[in-house]
Amino acid sequence: MKRSVLLLTWTFLAFVACSSGAEETKTAPTDKVELKDPPLKVGYSIPFGGDKFELKNLKYAKSVGVDYVEVSGMSAFIDDQRNFKLSELEIKERLKWAKKNADEAGIKIWSIHMPFGANLDLSLVNETNRRDVVAKQGRLVELLEILEPQIILFHPSYYLGLNERDLRKAQLIKSAKELNEVVKSINATMVIENLLGPELLKDENRERPLLRTVQETIEIMNRLPNSIGSAVDMNHIKNPEELILAMGSRMKSVHIADGTGKHENHYFPCSVKGQNDWTLILAALDKAGYRGPFMYESAYDDEKDLMVCYKMLYNNYLNASY
Ligand SMILES: [Zn+2]
Repeated sequence: MKRSVLLLTWTFLAFVACSSGAEETKTAPTDKVELKDPPLKVGYSIPFGGDKFELKNLKYAKSVGVDYVEVSGMSAFIDDQRNFKLSELEIKERLKWAKKNADEAGIKIWSIHMPFGANLDLSLVNETNRRDVVAKQGRLVELLEILEPQIILFHPSYYLGLNERDLRKAQLIKSAKELNEVVKSINATMVIENLLGPELLKDENRERPLLRTVQETIEIMNRLPNSIGSAVDMNHIKNPEELILAMGSRMKSVHIADGTGKHENHYFPCSVKGQNDWTLILAALDKAGYRGPFMYESAYDDEKDLMVCYKMLYNNYLNASY
């Protein structure tokens, strides 16, 4: 779809949604726009720390077509030195508060974005440190059972040193197998997200994280148990449809955002700032049989834009297909 058409359509739909509510986007003042409902539910990533889990905010999101959330911001519970910041009792109380509000608003917790960083890296070479990462991440997963998430999402690594990639892969696989057992014990599915890596080197002393290309993601996923799934982030790789098709039914979750494949842009897909071809992406999601939420991890102005944008992308895809 031409980008100018996308922008024009988005401007029009956003105007209709603003002036008369998201439900009425089907009727244009002068011309009739028949928009078909898209197949997936809509979700978006919200941090634990802010006010997004307050009941009124969750209710608002639900009222404009959001059914799921991914919970991020786990740094509210654990610091970058792997120390829990709160007592377990306090963590449980906060999680219960969030779950109660989500239930009352009718919002389901689809996924948890687990914490990441140099000292929370599943692929650490030092065994004492790696075991401590697994222990702390595992304990956090057990506490997060309160939220009844379906998906627990991990980054495969942080930045790597030079020429240690193979060793890091082996360490990641060890950690993932161990954490997968904890994730299974709370009736959730573990997924590992592809990360940004347009070139191997981040700078002269560091390599980009693991799962930076389609080929590397395939290689590592093939070495992991089948019960561990893949999460495809649309702003971490150029032409994400290629990764979606390579993962197929192994893909259990997504991060919807636009970008250039070179930076952590997390642009809103209808902003026309990124380079993704959403028709190709939606076709790939269809072909892969993905049935989870259309989970935004992107900038947005207002929650009401999330469903409107997905609906527009979906109708563009339908019109391009036939
Ligand atoms: Zn992501």
